Amino acid sequence: MSFNVIDNVKKIRNEVPETVSLICVSKTKPNELIMEAYNAGEREFGENKVQELTEKYETLPKDIKWHFIGHLQRNKVKYIVGKLHLLHSLDGVKLLHELEKRYGKEELELNTLIQVNVGEEESKTGLHKNEVNDFIKEVEKCSHVKVKGIMAIIPKGTEEQCRSYFKEMKEMYENLKKMDYNNVSMEILSMGMSGDYKIAIDEGSNMVRVGTGVFGNRVYK
Ligand SMILES: *Cc1c(COP(=O)(O)O)cnc(C)c1O
Repeated sequence: MSFNVIDNVKKIRNEVPETVSLICVSKTKPNELIMEAYNAGEREFGENKVQELTEKYETLPKDIKWHFIGHLQRNKVKYIVGKLHLLHSLDGVKLLHELEKRYGKEELELNTLIQVNVGEEESKTGLHKNEVNDFIKEVEKCSHVKVKGIMAIIPKGTEEQCRSYFKEMKEMYENLKKMDYNNVSMEILSMGMSGDYKIAIDEGSNMVRVGTGVFGNRVYK
C-alpha cells in the first residue's frame, strides 16, 4: 500500500461519488500527515480519543470539521463541548443525558448519529437493533442533542456478509426516515471503512470513514 497521502486521497476521491462524504480517519496520525490531506483539499477528519482530538483541535486549522467516531465516556464529554462537527457514536441513554446537560449549559447544539451494533457483537458498543426505538423516545425529549442519522461498524466477514449488514442498516435508515420524530432527521448513513467502503456506497452509505486507505497502517504503542 502506498503511504503517499496525496495520492491516496486522489484515488479515493475518484471512487467516492460527490454525494458521499469522506471522513479521513486520522487517529494515531501526526499533524504533518493530517496537513497533507488538508492541503489536498480534505476538511473532515475522524478521531476516537478525546485527548487526541482536543490536542489536534487546538493546533490544526479552525476550518476542519472534527468527527468523533469512538466510544465517548460520559466523564469526558465536558472536554469536547463545542468542538465536534458530528458525533458518530451516540450509544446510550446516560451519554445522551450528559451531552444534553453539557450542551444545554453552553446553549449549543450537537449533531449526532446513533451507533447501531448491527452484528450484535459482544465486543462492540452501540445500541442493539431492538433498542433503537426506545432510545429515540429519549432523544425526542432533548433540545440540544439532534440525531441526524445512524452509524455502524460491521463485523468482519466475506463480501456477501458485509453486504447483508449494510443492507440491514440501509433498511433501518429508510424506515426511520419515514417517521416523524422530534429532534430526529435521517440524513446521514455512516458506514464503510478502508476495506469495504465501495461495497458500503453500493448499498446506500452516504458517509464513509477511511483511515488506513488515506494515511497507511496505524502503529499502536
Ligand atoms: C479506525 C476507524 C475507522 C477507519 O478504519 P480503517 O480500516 O483504517 O479505514 C472507521 N471507523 C471507525 C469507527 C474507526 O474506529
